[in-house]
Amino acid sequence: MESDESFDSVGPLLTPSTNYVGFATLPDQVHRKSVKKGFEFTLMVVGESGLGKSTLVNSLFLTDLYSDKAIPSAEERINKTVDIERSSVDIEECGVKLRLTVVDTPGFGDQLNGLNSWQPIVKYVDDQFNQYYRDESGLNRKNIIDNRIHCCLYFISPYGHGLRPIDVQFMKALHKKVNIVPVIAKADCLTKTEVKILKSKIIDEIEEHDITIYQFPEGESDDEEFKQQNLELKISAENDKTEPGMGSIPFAVIGSNTTIDVNGKKVRGRLYPWGITEVENPAHCDFGMLRNMLIRTHMQDLKEVTGDVHYENYRLQCIKSDNATPVKRTGRMKRESVIIEENNEKDRMLLEKEEELKKMQEMLKKMQAQMDQQNQNQNRSTTGIV
Ligand code: GDP
Repeated sequence: MESDESFDSVGPLLTPSTNYVGFATLPDQVHRKSVKKGFEFTLMVVGESGLGKSTLVNSLFLTDLYSDKAIPSAEERINKTVDIERSSVDIEECGVKLRLTVVDTPGFGDQLNGLNSWQPIVKYVDDQFNQYYRDESGLNRKNIIDNRIHCCLYFISPYGHGLRPIDVQFMKALHKKVNIVPVIAKADCLTKTEVKILKSKIIDEIEEHDITIYQFPEGESDDEEFKQQNLELKISAENDKTEPGMGSIPFAVIGSNTTIDVNGKKVRGRLYPWGITEVENPAHCDFGMLRNMLIRTHMQDLKEVTGDVHYENYRLQCIKSDNATPVKRTGRMKRESVIIEENNEKDRMLLEKEEELKKMQEMLKKMQAQMDQQNQNQNRSTTGIV
């Protein structure tokens, strides 16, 4: 009976019969809170003008983020430097809100010698890290606006024979700062065999230049869809070594903002005199794969890698620790293998804490001695001993 009483005093959630404390609702609570707050995602698109960046972004998110887009003349483009343009849109689906910010980089690669086009983009990415760093160290940490770039879609021209010098320069300058997902633009300009050849050339060149593009995470996950897509992407990547095909990085994409009637079904596609290319048909291009990865399965991972790896590297540089080793994602995507060596910083903090503890212990001793003294004085006065 004694035990029943003690359970009653804890409350109805904890009973001997159910052994149920209640924390199993934690995922629901987190989910409810996150849904209420909404999600944020910042996508950067980089590539020569005319490669179909705006069309693809609009097709991906079914929005019109570029309604007031002005196309500069050739003369304007020659003299223009790279601009950074941000536009945000709130998207709601089944009660879940997503604030999508697209950072466009018009002017990239437009100048006659566009090899330094990456510089303003690097500056922009660093500025966002810096702002976040300052906000994080400030007083109002609860309301930080996260403008860091979570993913960069890099558009590669379908007309070349692989990467151009500007592509290599850009990726080399940014691969340690953002998650780069390369895409082959306007894939409808290429035959199936040409797509394969171009993909394998790009993969070889990325390896040759030691460029780290976004890697798919390894390890266990409870999310079946996430696991399935990871598996598909990995299988495609493995196959790519011998025979690159549809559904693998670099995704070969087609964009379109118009729907066409195909056998009584409305599909998003491009209508040509000789036929139709369907944007969402996996036999035609990798648009579906890219959209699934970006929105349905890997958005959270892209955000985590941004925070845990790229931002952490930036933060370490700011901390100016001599022994700080940059955070790496070694091998193909091992979150567990992210190593942060802040030993000196940790040791310093531990020493400080020890010092503080010592001081507090001394203070406590003094206070105890004072109290003992007071008690003795009181006892003497009550017993009349002087
Ligand atoms: P941006 O300057 O990179 O943003 O390019 P736009 O999205 O404005 O597209 C430039 C032109 O390419 C437009 O005429 C589009 O209709 C066309 N376009 C866009 N995506 C594709 C595509 O996947 N295939 C083909 N063939 N043309 C495309």
